[in-house]
Amino acid sequence: MSALVLDGKALAQKTEEELSARVAAMKEKSAGQTPILATILVGDDPASATYVKMKGNACRRIGMDSMQVELPSSTTTEELLAKIEELNANVNVHGILLQHPVPEQIDERACFDAIALEKDVDGVTCLGFGRMAMGEEAYGCATPKGIMRLLEAYNIELAGKHAVVVGRSPILGKPMAAMLLNANATVTICHSRTQELAEHIKRADIVVGAVGRPEFIKADWIKDGAVVVDAGYHPGGVGDIELGPLKERAAAYTPVPGGVGPMTINTLIYQSVDSGEKKLG
Ligand code: NAP
Repeated sequence: MSALVLDGKALAQKTEEELSARVAAMKEKSAGQTPILATILVGDDPASATYVKMKGNACRRIGMDSMQVELPSSTTTEELLAKIEELNANVNVHGILLQHPVPEQIDERACFDAIALEKDVDGVTCLGFGRMAMGEEAYGCATPKGIMRLLEAYNIELAGKHAVVVGRSPILGKPMAAMLLNANATVTICHSRTQELAEHIKRADIVVGAVGRPEFIKADWIKDGAVVVDAGYHPGGVGDIELGPLKERAAAYTPVPGGVGPMTINTLIYQSVDSGEKKLG
């Protein structure tokens, strides 16, 4: 039987319609004001520039404003911190996105952590992560939160299931594992030092691939009827998981492209609208 396709593109489109209506309602109540997402791009990495542009376009599609801040690749940690402080203090800014990665002379962690909690709509601060992990209110890190929203939209049962997350990065694997744990899954986190990776994955009801290597996780490591979530995207349109053979054997899977990717940007604007509503009503 064919696996259920967890269609992130369709869910993102549907959510954009709802967000557009919420932004329009906010504009009406607040004399034309909309939520504003400030995006910060440091340096001239073309991929980062494309991601920032896509995020600005998503804001425009739902009628929200974005403020684009571009800084040269020679920017220091102090200069970037000063810019973040300025945006924290700007009452018209409701969300701040610092595009990862920043040039290597910058202390990225210090800069992420300088973002005010209520404006951390990309979910990158240690404080936001800690609060989320403890089950307190905080915006979730955009990619794993997008995955959770996708699983929820398709009523994928998580409680009591064994989830194996492959990858433990601050923006993906670690918050993903905490979110699945909060949803009462039993969670195994694998990484580059994990021994017998295939054996761990074979026991998974839910597999999340967040490794950054094309088709690194093989289809025959994954049991029949598993839910397969692939966060990767590589040239040639493949992810971190060998999805081909799983389209018949899995219970459900995220396609690449069109699964996790669209949900990341969608979660960023979703959380920005929420932050705007808290300030603009
Ligand atoms: P990352 O920071 O490079 O982390 C990769 C993780 O994979 C690390 O935890 C690493 O373990 C682990 N790993 C590497 N080799 C491994 C191996 N042989 N066996 C087991 N684990 C191994 O990458 P990331 O930022 O989390 O991104 C992961 C993937 O998600 C990438 O494909 C990226 O393109 C994609 N992504 C997608 C979106 C989106 O919007 N769709 C957003 C972000 C990322 P160690 O910790 O031990 O080094």
